[in-house]
Amino acid sequence: MPPVSAISLAHSLLRREILDLHAYHVPGSAGYIKLDAMENPYPVPQQLRDEIAAAVAQAAINRYPDPDPAALKEKIRGAIGLPREMGVLLGNGSDELIQLLAMAVNKPGATLLSVEPSFVMYKMIATFTGMRYVGVPLLTNSGAADFSLDLSATLAAIRREQPALVFLAYPNNPTGNLFSTDAVAQIIAASPGLVVVDEAYYAFASDSFIPRLADYPNLLVMRTFSKLGMAGLRLGFLAGSTAWLEQLEKLRLPYNVGVLPQLVAEKLLEHHDVLLLQAEQIKQDRAKLYRQLGEIAAVRVYPSEANFLLFRAANATAVFDGLKRRGVLIKNLNGGHPMLSDCLRVTVGTPDENERFMTALQEILRYE
Ligand code: PMP
Repeated sequence: MPPVSAISLAHSLLRREILDLHAYHVPGSAGYIKLDAMENPYPVPQQLRDEIAAAVAQAAINRYPDPDPAALKEKIRGAIGLPREMGVLLGNGSDELIQLLAMAVNKPGATLLSVEPSFVMYKMIATFTGMRYVGVPLLTNSGAADFSLDLSATLAAIRREQPALVFLAYPNNPTGNLFSTDAVAQIIAASPGLVVVDEAYYAFASDSFIPRLADYPNLLVMRTFSKLGMAGLRLGFLAGSTAWLEQLEKLRLPYNVGVLPQLVAEKLLEHHDVLLLQAEQIKQDRAKLYRQLGEIAAVRVYPSEANFLLFRAANATAVFDGLKRRGVLIKNLNGGHPMLSDCLRVTVGTPDENERFMTALQEILRYE
């Protein structure tokens, strides 16, 4: 056989759509004030750390994890007030659950529908799994209603495309707004397929579809603990009717949540109140940051019910670079989607981090 390079072999074997994809880029963040990834900036309180360390010391890491950790699921149910008749399916982060859902409904020609701009993994996972993807634009040039659902266009797309799976991020990432409850309800009612309301930012939002799960046979709610102080654990879950979850369980890899994440999450959820207090602090600081950004004439900031703020500023890439030079890392959305030109996204950090971000931003807008 003639020698063949790995690159030519990869190009001949891999699917075209994989070759065309850009990898999800995570920039290096060492040494920066890290306001790019919607993490909770507060470390676990010391007393709780000690408790976790003692439990980890006893953990049976020579054994596979419990494939159905009943105690952890019970704690999750308690923490979120899940109705008795509803079930929980655990994922290695909610990213994994998006993939699992796509695999589950992916009959030939099946369509995944979402809105745009929204969480980029919906489209990426549709591509990985070979599903058709349809993105319905959110409203623009509508003043205060910018980035809200275009209900008539979304309902028309649902009628036309008959999607097997619909994802709605509630609140939405990267725009931060909470869609109208009534519009989301109409979309669920009009959908022939499964609708997943992605409540990744539930801890910072004023509404949820968990209490409405029983109203719709085609609704699941997805959540993650990543934004609540456990991004490093990778733990997400689907909540909904056991009729759905029993089927989806067949696709879950048996040991997708490791011994240590199970154990640490259980301990942290025993202190869910501590995490919710941190979320409350973040909400207060979000309001302050929103006010401060709103006072800058060169900036347009958008309302948020998440732990981040979307804002627009001329020459956003220069602003992003200027912040980076001053040691502050946020997310540059410019160029990612036509509706996000000159947009930047900043995660709400500690009061001190927010102040350093604001000082750096004001300096850049004044001098650059
Ligand atoms: N859904 C939304 C809307 C998100 O913004 C994110 C993370 N950025 C996720 C899901 C994935 O979260 P994780 O995989 O950390 O659970």
